[in-house]
Order: sequence, then C-alpha cells, then structure tokens
Amino acid sequence: MSSFEKFCTKFVQGVGSKEGAISPVITSSASFAYGTPEIGEGIFDGSIKKPLYSRMGNPTTARLETIMADMDGGVGAVATSSGMGATSLACMSLLSSGDAIISVGGLFGGTYSFFSETLSRFGITTDFFDVDALEEIESAISEKTKIIFLESVGNPNMRLPDIKAIAAIANNAGVILIVDNTTTPMSVEPLSLGADIVVYSTTKIISGNASALGGCVVFRAVNEGEDKLKSERYDFLQKFIKGAGAMALIPNAKKRALRDFGMSASAHASYQTMLGLETLPLRMERIISSVDFIARTLYNHGLKVNHPSLETHPHHNRYISDFKHGCGSLFTLDMGSKEAAFKFLNNTKLATITANIGDSRTLALHMASTIYRDFDAKEKEFLGITEGLIRISVGLESPQDIINDFLESAK
Ligand SMILES: *Cc1c(COP(=O)(O)O)cnc(C)c1O
Repeated sequence: MSSFEKFCTKFVQGVGSKEGAISPVITSSASFAYGTPEIGEGIFDGSIKKPLYSRMGNPTTARLETIMADMDGGVGAVATSSGMGATSLACMSLLSSGDAIISVGGLFGGTYSFFSETLSRFGITTDFFDVDALEEIESAISEKTKIIFLESVGNPNMRLPDIKAIAAIANNAGVILIVDNTTTPMSVEPLSLGADIVVYSTTKIISGNASALGGCVVFRAVNEGEDKLKSERYDFLQKFIKGAGAMALIPNAKKRALRDFGMSASAHASYQTMLGLETLPLRMERIISSVDFIARTLYNHGLKVNHPSLETHPHHNRYISDFKHGCGSLFTLDMGSKEAAFKFLNNTKLATITANIGDSRTLALHMASTIYRDFDAKEKEFLGITEGLIRISVGLESPQDIINDFLESAK
C-alpha cells in the first residue's frame, strides 16, 4: 500500500508556525474591531483583507481552510460547523426553488433526509440513483438540474463509484458535481477526477478522535476561458465571476449560504481539527491496511463481510484500479438478524457502539435500529440496510486484536 508522503509534509508544515507560537492561535472572538471607519468600509467592500465578523470568517478557521484547499488542489475552502453544514452550504449556495438534484450512490442518512425531507419542502426535487446507473443519470439531467451529488464510497452499502465517468457526464451536461469525500480524504482527489466541489465532515477521520464537530467545503477555480459555470444554468454566479474571477465560488458560498444560514465553524473546533490533520496520513495508512486484513480474515472465517477488497464484491476490480489508497475505515458485517447483531454488539469488548466513523478507536453500530430507523422498507433496500447489518469503522488498535474480539463475539 503506498503512503501519503506529500500530505505528511503539507499538514505538519501547514499547521505549525516557524515563528512565535508553533501551535495555531485560537482567535476566540466573535467580532473584530476595525479601528477606523475607512478600514471598516474597506473590509466590507473587500479591498482590505481583515476579519469582518466570525460568522463570515475567522483567522483560526482560515488556517484550516487553507490547508484543506491545498489538500484537494482547490482555489479555496469554507469550513463549517458540521459535515451537514458543509453539504447544506454547498447545496444552498447553488439552489433555488424549482431546481433539481441528482444524487448518486451512498448515501449518508443525514444527506438523504436533507434531500428527501428538507429540500423538498422548499420546492427542490432529488432523484436517487445507484452508482452504476450511468445511462439513467445522464437521461435524468434537465435544465433544472443544478447539482449532481456523489459520495466517494457508499456508506454503508460499500459500493464504489466510477468518479471519472460520473464527472464526465456532469461536465458534458454542464452541471456541477459535488463529491462527499468524508470517508476518503487524500485517498480520493475528487477535483483532479473532474469534480467541482468537495464536501467533508471533518468530524470523522480528519479530526479522528471525536473531539470536534466540523465540516469543510473545497471549491475549484473558475477557468479563465471557457467554463461550464459561465452558463445560463448558473446565472446567479456571473456577478461573482465578474468580481472574484477564479475565486468566484467562495463569495458565492459565503453570500448565498454562510452569511444567512450561519453554519460557520468555531475557532476552537478548527484548532482541534488541525491537530487531527497533522496525523491524518499516518492514521489513514494504518487503518486502510488494517481494514483489508480484517475484512479478509473475518470473511475466511465464514462471516458475511462486505468490503470491496474481497473478490466477491461487485466493485472489486474498481477497488483495485481506482482506489489504490483504499476506501476508508468502513466495512459491514451482516449477522442475518437483529437478534444476532445485538448479540455480537453485546459481546464485543473492543468496539465502541456509536454513530460516528473514522475514530482512533474501532466503532460499531447496528444500522436498522439507529440511523435508518425512520426509513421505510423500500428506502432501506435502496441503501442496502438489512436487519442484521452492523457497520464497523476500524480504528488504530492492533488488527489481530480486532479480529480475535470479533471472532469471539460472533460465536
Ligand atoms: C458524518 C457524515 C456526514 C455529516 O457530518 P456531521 O459532521 O455529522 O454533520 C456527511 N457525510 C458523510 C459521508 C458522513 O459520514
């Protein structure tokens, strides 16, 4: 398994300072004094780059945003109060009543209900497709479609998308592609595969230790010449392109979503997220090698394991060709029934039972009785939620200890 060398350097160098306090300073101030009315005017018209008010940006958070944008090769980023804050910021900055979303693969429960229950109340419709339904996706695009939304790895169905192929469809049709890359930071680089916007819940493996809720949206640059963003479909963007050029998606996101919905990151959470980022490549490398080893060993012992590293998985070939740096910390176990799943969870001495993923500790959760409890049978089928399904997020423990505990717990 190849390493994340370049990120090891980027992250520790980006977080620490060469002079003064090495650890990032937490600027715990909601508002900022301008000193003179002239400077105040300059801050508001954008000619002076100083903090305006923490809802619109904070110096500690700005440091995190710079590192995140650099990680994905974006032109800039906006950090948010949570991963759902990131998804809602990215979407709300592009949508108006009457618009349509095409949602592909996944899907994280909160995102599913955001699309199906919340945005629908505001006249925005969403069609849901499996990752392999490429023809259906292409023919579902209409002039109302503003967003194609994709998760890099189906959570918890573990299906893997052909991101390049879906990006090609989005680019041909002139539609923005947003990728939720929460489970695969660094392993998947959506902007280089043709996506426009990347969203993260930094709560998960980026922070890595359940210490801070947070999210981040990374935006690509608007091209100088031709660009699908310069079309009528995105008429509201044109004034930002005129004013901010390559950076246009950032003021668009701040003025059309962050300013009025207020899903802003707190300086404390941004600080804790940066502490997590410093060790992300090391943790990621260990976890992705543990996941493959644990999934295979449990499978060889007769457990019903779902992970693309297994030859039995329908996307095994895609895993080998497109996911060379793994597909994150997750796999699932189907215990066959709710009773058997609960028995396993009551037996395990190692796994922590919680709804989080990407933690330093191994986590486990029964899906049907928790995150998906309000979903009807058809929705559960689409999302791959069976009665005995347990989602596992592998942590930093010795993989052999995890295997021993799970085999004992499954008896
Ligand atoms: C957790 C998660 C989210 C939401 O993140 P929060 O920080 O909990 O709001 C979104 N997408 C994915 C894939 C997630 O795992």
